[in-house]
Formats: sequence, C-alpha cells, structure tokens
Amino acid sequence: MITLKTRAEIEIMYRAGQLVAETLAYLKDQVEVGLPTIELDRMAEERIRAAGAIPAFKGYMGFPFTLCISINEQVVHGFPSERTLAEGDLLSLDCGAIVDGFYSDAAITVRVGTLSEAAESLLATTERCLDEAIDQVRVGNRLQDIGHTVQTIAEAQGYGVVKDFVGHGIGRKLHEEPQVPNWGKPNRGPRLKVGMVLAVEPMINAGTEKVRVLDDNWTAVTCDDSLSAHFEHSIAITDEGPMVLTALAA
Ligand code: MG
Ligand code: MG
Repeated sequence: MITLKTRAEIEIMYRAGQLVAETLAYLKDQVEVGLPTIELDRMAEERIRAAGAIPAFKGYMGFPFTLCISINEQVVHGFPSERTLAEGDLLSLDCGAIVDGFYSDAAITVRVGTLSEAAESLLATTERCLDEAIDQVRVGNRLQDIGHTVQTIAEAQGYGVVKDFVGHGIGRKLHEEPQVPNWGKPNRGPRLKVGMVLAVEPMINAGTEKVRVLDDNWTAVTCDDSLSAHFEHSIAITDEGPMVLTALAA
C-alpha cells in the first residue's frame, strides 16, 4: 500500500531532507586525493548526530556505516574504508537520516580531481536522468513515466540502466511502496498523487547493466568493471508540483 503524507509530515521530511543535503554538500567539499573514505563516513555521522538526528543506514538490515560509498565500478552499497581517494575516481556518496521518525535519502556522484572524458560524460548523463525524472514526479503522470525518462536518456548514450536495484517510496520507513524502477513504459503503473514521497535514484553503468554483489554481501559492482554513477533525491508530490526535499535550499 502506498501511504500518502500530510502536509505536516512533508514538512518534517523536508527538515530530514535538508540535513541530508547539507551533509552531502559538506562532504563534497571535503573530497580530495589521499582521503580515506572512512573519514567521510565519520564526518557524516558526526554532522547527522550533532543535528539531533539518526543516520538512517547504520544498522539497517545490518549495514555497518552511515554512508554508502561506491567508487568507479562499484554501483551502490559500497563500504567506507581505509581506501584512499585517487585522482580520477568517480565517487558516489549515498546518505540517509531520520528526523522525528521520518526518513530522507539522497545520493550524489562527485569527481576526485580530474575525471576522464568517459567518466565526466557518465556523471553528466546520470545527473540529467535524475533532473528530468524529477519533472515527471507530478500529479497527472503515472509511475513508469519516471523510469521511462531515465531509461530513454541513458540508453540514448549507450549506457546500461541497472535493473537489480530501484528507487522507492519513503516516509516512516526507508523503503516503502511503491518501487520506482529506472525503466518503464510511458503512461503505465499507479497514478501519482499528492502526498506521495518517492526516492528516485538512477544507477547508470557505462557498459552492461549487469551487476553482482561482492562477498561482503553489500557492495554491488558492474559485471564488466565499467564505471557506474548514481544520483538520488527524495521528492514529495504537492499541488504545486515536485518538491525536492533533498535539494539544498538556496
Ligand atoms: Mg540512497
Ligand atoms: Mg534510496
């Protein structure tokens, strides 16, 4: 069942979203060659707890960290570690927080130093997939319009759209109904309604869409070792259109 949020609940989710947005913006500024990724995790946890909030991922289904950190061929759910960032790394940071019982979830992919042309192109296209998908998150559309938009943009570049992981509803739980796939056909699926809050998260591979999970039972990597990028926002559907809860207020 898809739960619709009240305006008051969306206001709380906005506060959770802003905390995640601020945290990711701060982390982006800290990224530099030589930094162990566990340091980013430590900074994120400290900032979230300092705000009186709870890291949403830590302990979720046994996940051990505040952030998912996925580098290069890692798609999602990578572990922060002593691994140091290297020039040209394509770095995905996924962060969630709980504020007053409500979850927020967002991810960015950032460059470490200067990227290859191929990595720049993947990053730009994946971000565009999310930007254009957000515009579909409005009353009058149907769920698959979101994924159709992502798939059309990504596949036009010859990229692989990851099918093993999907976006999701979000609210009092991190993952609520409905699932939000990054593919689909126009004008199919449930109708979008005011009060739905969706985490839309294109995961796009430079090569094949096929992914596998490493022996740590979490880290997903591309089967062909090609690069992967990931962007995510939590978005509320309002009468006025999509309200991106995890976009940093100007
Ligand atoms: Mg996420
Ligand atoms: Mg998510």
